[in-house]
Amino acid sequence: MSVTLKQVFNKDKTFRPKRKLELGTQRFELHKWAQASLNSGVDLKSAVRLPCGEDVSDWVAVHVVDFFNRINLIYGTVCEFCTEKSCPVMSGGPRYEYRWQDEHKYKKPTALPAPQYMNLLMDWIEMQINNEEIFPTSTEIPFPKNFIQICKKIMCRLFRVFVHVYIHHFDRILQMAAEAHVNTCYKHFYNFSIEFNLIDHKELEPLKDMTSRMDL
Ligand code: ZN
Repeated sequence: MSVTLKQVFNKDKTFRPKRKLELGTQRFELHKWAQASLNSGVDLKSAVRLPCGEDVSDWVAVHVVDFFNRINLIYGTVCEFCTEKSCPVMSGGPRYEYRWQDEHKYKKPTALPAPQYMNLLMDWIEMQINNEEIFPTSTEIPFPKNFIQICKKIMCRLFRVFVHVYIHHFDRILQMAAEAHVNTCYKHFYNFSIEFNLIDHKELEPLKDMTSRMDL
């Protein structure tokens, strides 16, 4: 990370606190392993593959939490420019509009301003990853049967953050010279999603052209 980026990301701009893995736990070790292989110059396609002998749910859990933290930080750097006025609907250009739906207030898909949508989205993901029954902190507790299904939904929603940031707020990312950082995070996220088939192809559509131009 460059000095500028360190300054940008340390400026207390985190959208919300990060969820940390407990030090010394098996999953923390896996997280460290994943980080180390990323920093060792291994290409991203190989880095995302399940290490021999590891459990796929553990591997996905570690990555989903990590992607949430990183994407949350990325949105945090543009969130002051993402307002009800600048982004009255949560969209990815004129062709894609996202509607929010949950089990509480918005039982029917509802068009919302982007900042409101993002808040609900981040809150929802945070609730999932802090739920011990879904993301158990102890390896003694098994993952639920629908774990991968929940992770697919989280990844799909996180992808929408990339869509919105790339299409509507990339000027801000460029101003901060953070594009290399955002691109690396995106490439890692994209390769991981493809490797484990976590996002439907139609969801990837809004960034398809951009992705095809990237050196993945
Ligand atoms: Zn916005």
